[in-house]
Amino acid sequence: MELLYKSTRDADKTVTASQAILKGLASDGGLFVPVEIPKLDVDLDELKEMSYQETAYQVMKRFLTDFTEEELRHCINSAYDEKFDTTEIAPLVEVNDGVFHLELFHGATIAFKDMALSILPHLMTTAAKKNHADHEIVILTATSGDTGKAAMAGFADVPGTKIIVFYPKNGVSRVQELQMVTQKGVNTAVVAIHGNFDNAQSGVKKMFEDQALAAELAKAGYQFSSANSINIGRLVPQVVYYVYAYAKLLQKGEIAKGEEINVTVPTGNFGNILAAYYAKQMGLPIAKLICASNENKVLFDFFETGVYDKNRDFVLTSSPSMDILISSNLERLIYQVAGQDAQKDCELMKALNTEGKYEITGEMKAGLKDFVGGYATEEQTSQAIHDTYQRNGYVMDTHTAVASYVSEQYRKETGDAKKMVVASTASPYKFARSVMTSIDSKYEGMDDFALIEELKKVSGVEIPNAVKEIMDAKVLHNRECDVDQMEQTVKAILKVEA
Ligand SMILES: *Cc1c(COP(=O)(O)O)cnc(C)c1O
Repeated sequence: MELLYKSTRDADKTVTASQAILKGLASDGGLFVPVEIPKLDVDLDELKEMSYQETAYQVMKRFLTDFTEEELRHCINSAYDEKFDTTEIAPLVEVNDGVFHLELFHGATIAFKDMALSILPHLMTTAAKKNHADHEIVILTATSGDTGKAAMAGFADVPGTKIIVFYPKNGVSRVQELQMVTQKGVNTAVVAIHGNFDNAQSGVKKMFEDQALAAELAKAGYQFSSANSINIGRLVPQVVYYVYAYAKLLQKGEIAKGEEINVTVPTGNFGNILAAYYAKQMGLPIAKLICASNENKVLFDFFETGVYDKNRDFVLTSSPSMDILISSNLERLIYQVAGQDAQKDCELMKALNTEGKYEITGEMKAGLKDFVGGYATEEQTSQAIHDTYQRNGYVMDTHTAVASYVSEQYRKETGDAKKMVVASTASPYKFARSVMTSIDSKYEGMDDFALIEELKKVSGVEIPNAVKEIMDAKVLHNRECDVDQMEQTVKAILKVEA
């Protein structure tokens, strides 16, 4: 049976999975969602014996029904290979009693973005072939630090594609920036914008919605798509690792078949936690979805009050990939709890656009009962890194630390002792400065590369290739632009006449 997709802002039109992936964002500005979440009708006893790749096939084939088995297996096998530094792909590590970190950072760019972005280029080129797309695909991407590198690593030199990445000039870590500006590949472009992530994402979304621009580009032989988690092709591969984690807990005898677990996710654009929600809706026994924010706690406030309000100061934190005030994927959840009411969704998103806030109804709020919001201050985040290291020598990154703090807090406050899976979203090497100075203030005066060597000593974990690579790589990109020049910059890169 074919599963179709709809825009959150249009009740009538449907598209296939491959069309949704190819387009990225719907032309009405809405996000594509499956008309229903498929059921995971595979026995858990079978799942627990499966490799990551086989689990991926079982989950993804239920969402991407217009891909053939051969196409999908080819995409999966091309993505989850030696680019990952472990055959487990996403190892599960018990860090605290009953608390398991799902390490999603073993891919090429050492952040969880690799889980989806190592497969997205394959899904995209397959989708282009299936739909006889004759234009070159231009991937426009806004990044808070990790998506940009992971997307470029995936799309570099992929025939028929170009990729342009926008990142906030002073809003990413040193390692993140170096990873991006040293990116090779003739089809890659990197632009630092004089603004924050929300500016970058809004600018990109605006270009997607601009029909005149689309026509102009089409004449030059281009069409836009997205590597951000607004693309459903990013979300579906992220459902996989929650199923895999559950199956691994079962295999290790940590839970009984059907026993519920909780999940804590460090959240920015709401993509990763939405994938966990989809896993739950597929039938995976997840009880609570705990949404962990840093000091940009717009989501915490939303789950408390039902009011989403981005009118507040944007805080630069030690977890920059979560420095976001407009969490795009929340729109998919809003649409769901509004009873798939595109009209209602449009109203709320319009309010967000014009007033910077909206309030959901009591009935909609009742639909959010599986979610719990929490947040960690900078100090609590730092303390969590310090204490976990002191307790058992395990070094975690700042984003994971936000989730770890919120997860502990939740367990303490509620007494809910269900097994917990914490999504561990980046290698500590990516944020060496914040991590090392949390462990001990004596590291404060050292430069970034010295800190990387120290991190190796304290963690006993080998320096990942992704970090070694940038140590002496040449800077290949130095473009910058103001927020209101993003469209001109894209045209200049594509050599399209203004
Ligand atoms: C992107 C990112 C997040 C936030 O994930 P969302 O899907 O945007 O909520 C958290 N941690 C790290 C390290 C990231 O790169």
